[in-house]
Amino acid sequence: MTKRINHQWRLVARPVGMIKETDFEWAEEPVSSPAENQVLVRNLYLSLDPANRGWMREEGSYMKPIPLGSVMLGGTIGVVEESRHPNFIEGDKVQGFLGWQEYGLAEGSTLRKLPDNPNIPLTAYLGLFGVIGMTAYFGLLDITDPKPGETLVVSAAAGAVGSITGQIGKIKGCRVVGIAGSDEKCKWITEELGFDAAINYKTEKLREAFKRTCPNGIDIYFDNVGGETLDAVLGRINLGARISICGMISQYNATAPVPGPYNLINILTMRARVQGFIVLDYLPRAPEALADLTRWYQEGKLKYRVDVVEGLKNAPGALNKLFDGTNQGKLIISI
Ligand code: NDP
Repeated sequence: MTKRINHQWRLVARPVGMIKETDFEWAEEPVSSPAENQVLVRNLYLSLDPANRGWMREEGSYMKPIPLGSVMLGGTIGVVEESRHPNFIEGDKVQGFLGWQEYGLAEGSTLRKLPDNPNIPLTAYLGLFGVIGMTAYFGLLDITDPKPGETLVVSAAAGAVGSITGQIGKIKGCRVVGIAGSDEKCKWITEELGFDAAINYKTEKLREAFKRTCPNGIDIYFDNVGGETLDAVLGRINLGARISICGMISQYNATAPVPGPYNLINILTMRARVQGFIVLDYLPRAPEALADLTRWYQEGKLKYRVDVVEGLKNAPGALNKLFDGTNQGKLIISI
């Protein structure tokens, strides 16, 4: 039998600004066999996430920086090729964290076996039924405790997390306003997802747009972008507002210090609460989120879309779609 070859992207430079293909090296090595309790997985799908950019930084983020020369990290879905772990057999579909490569070896304890459900495509486990859905669920419900009739504003609202967050807000009875970067995205979230209003931040001034879309002020803000958007929201928050800091994508590629918000004083005067979170802290509560998300999906209350780019070789270029806004939903590489 010919020896199988594993192709992989290794991180070889710390990116400055937007990432470049030269920050990575396309490498190959023979596929190894699993040791006891390990599983060899052939990766089918790779999740591309804004957080990947933070993991490449010398300073690290909530994870240690990826060492230069090692395989780029990332969430994956694949099929078991060989197993020396009692819970897995050849052919099982599994979710793991095997990185930007065709094959990966993992301890069985780090893999999640995926159900064989013909109604749920595998890619959904990288989106609605995975970390993305949980981020929207806990980041909104646990951090902000939304009440019917409250006004919820979501940024990056047509993205993977934002689109689910807004729909959960509607399920909880909020008036939901989404901020997105194109008219097409604004149309999708209002006409298809049921948001009450949308703002194209690239063509409208936010302060004016909030007067139009949030006449009673803002009670809850789910922040995916930070920067000027966060500042504009702070300028319009109500008494007792809650702000969930999920992400700050507007500054992930910054090459100089980013100015802070001018309207911070409103946190004081409005007795507002601002709280950040990292979804990994909620993994022990995953079943709670997945049960509700599955039920809402089956009831037709949740929709999602995935943006699948073909070919592992295209991963470095595709990652920038998250930063120029050309992704249409959860960004995934089909390996
Ligand atoms: P998305 O699918 O939302 O894609 C990112 C979107 O961000 C783009 O489509 C673009 O949409 C928008 N964007 C990019 N640059 C800017 C900018 N400078 N200003 C404003 N908007 C911008 O990605 P995800 O759903 O995967 O992630 C959304 C956020 O959630 C990110 O900040 C991410 O880091 C965070 N996150 C946090 C987690 C946690 O545990 N706290 C877990 C998972 C994600 P547009 O066209 O509208 O500009």
